[in-house]
Amino acid sequence: MEVTVYIDDVLLFADTIEELRKTVSQVLQILRANNLSLNNDKCQFDRTHITFLGHEIDENGFHIEETKVISSLESGKWLKHLLKFKAVAHELQYSNGILRKNGCAVIPHNLRDKALEVAHSGHPLEAKFKSILRRRVWWPKMSSDAEKWVKSCAACAVNGRPERPTPMQRSFAPKAVWETIALDFNGPYLKFGNIMILVVIDLRSRYAIARPVKSTKFEYTKAVLDSIFEREGFPRAIKSDNGPPFNGDEYSRYCNERGIQVIFSTTFYPQQNGLVEGFMKVVNKAMCTAVSTGNNYIDELQAAVKAYNAADHTITKVPPEEVLTGRKIKRGLPLLRHGESQHDADVLDTRDREAKLQSKDREDSRRGAKACRVKPGDSVIVERQLRTKGDSRFGMKRFVVSEERNGSLILCDPEGQQLRRHVSQTKKVGVWREQKTAGVQVESPGIASNSDPNQRPAREKRTPSYLSDYIRLVDEHPLDLSKKGKN
Ligand SMILES: [Zn+2]
Repeated sequence: MEVTVYIDDVLLFADTIEELRKTVSQVLQILRANNLSLNNDKCQFDRTHITFLGHEIDENGFHIEETKVISSLESGKWLKHLLKFKAVAHELQYSNGILRKNGCAVIPHNLRDKALEVAHSGHPLEAKFKSILRRRVWWPKMSSDAEKWVKSCAACAVNGRPERPTPMQRSFAPKAVWETIALDFNGPYLKFGNIMILVVIDLRSRYAIARPVKSTKFEYTKAVLDSIFEREGFPRAIKSDNGPPFNGDEYSRYCNERGIQVIFSTTFYPQQNGLVEGFMKVVNKAMCTAVSTGNNYIDELQAAVKAYNAADHTITKVPPEEVLTGRKIKRGLPLLRHGESQHDADVLDTRDREAKLQSKDREDSRRGAKACRVKPGDSVIVERQLRTKGDSRFGMKRFVVSEERNGSLILCDPEGQQLRRHVSQTKKVGVWREQKTAGVQVESPGIASNSDPNQRPAREKRTPSYLSDYIRLVDEHPLDLSKKGKN
């Protein structure tokens, strides 16, 4: 047991919090057995830094730094724990009772939090915050202390930058045509009675089909799918976002009954369905042409889709319709050689792979993508979907990550509700300091609020809940250690 007693001051210490708590419990049991009580107000628990008999003590040992540094400066002899000062000794100066480094005041251990708090007033960006400190004060590891200070600030967190997006996951073309298809909607088109365009694309051939539907209700989607599947048969899988009607029971039942696998891309992160998004430009142009020419929009749309399917695809260099059907198709213009399509499946695979990897590299560097640093068990805050002026970028509510896959997160809120988000719509957060700014409500479990700005942070006096068994009213017990005082 690591216990130091000096008159009526008791100091317990350990290398880990678990060991410390064990020691604290054992000592309290001994005190209880001897009917001794402590004044709760004068006790401090679970600390990594404490003042004992006038000495600052933390994980690095004792600090009576200032005086020691000053005498080391004069004698030229440095103690081991002062090496951080020795390294900059040529820049240190002591005059008029003030220790300076290059004209900046050297701040003693017990005043560093106060200095950080003053410099952080107004929540400057991290670089500005550090520059404010650097121009005025100095202590060893000031910069890393400043970083920790910003990380523990709730106001900075909810207005800060989200996590970096993860590198794109490119899925290469399936080996067979009509194996996996993608579905998406475009619209509504106000000029044509609010219709939507349902787009179906085969992911190997890039063959596209576009059909107008009255709305995203499943009955309309079903009618289109039925007519397409009647001709082409069922695919192995369908990719879509998880907006309506794909998020409904009817859709999943429909696919289930036909043995079709349902694949979702993450909500609010439509970039994942790149191929479909690209084809939407063709659809949009056709619809705009119909408006400007006054032609029937269905004719205009079908002509545009036909042209898209008949032309060499930008990536495969083969017309989508030839890859899908395996033959050349005559369309108005003379076709001298009828017969099978001459394209080579391996070449198509290579072109698909190379183009996707190239665009992945380009996109990854443009978006500053990084490997996901959010892991299951981490706490995150989530970007607001709708924001008006004055709203912070992130909500204050904390979620725990229950699953992470290629940057797609499944999150759990304190009520147990699940939420799906991409990592770039979240921000990883640690434990927040109490805010002394009015209006910032911090939902930080386990830290009591502290409204008096002159008071030291409340956590320093808070009794941990695991000690609640030992807490009782001192007045009830005549023998009181605290009367002698413990400071
Ligand atoms: Zn801040």
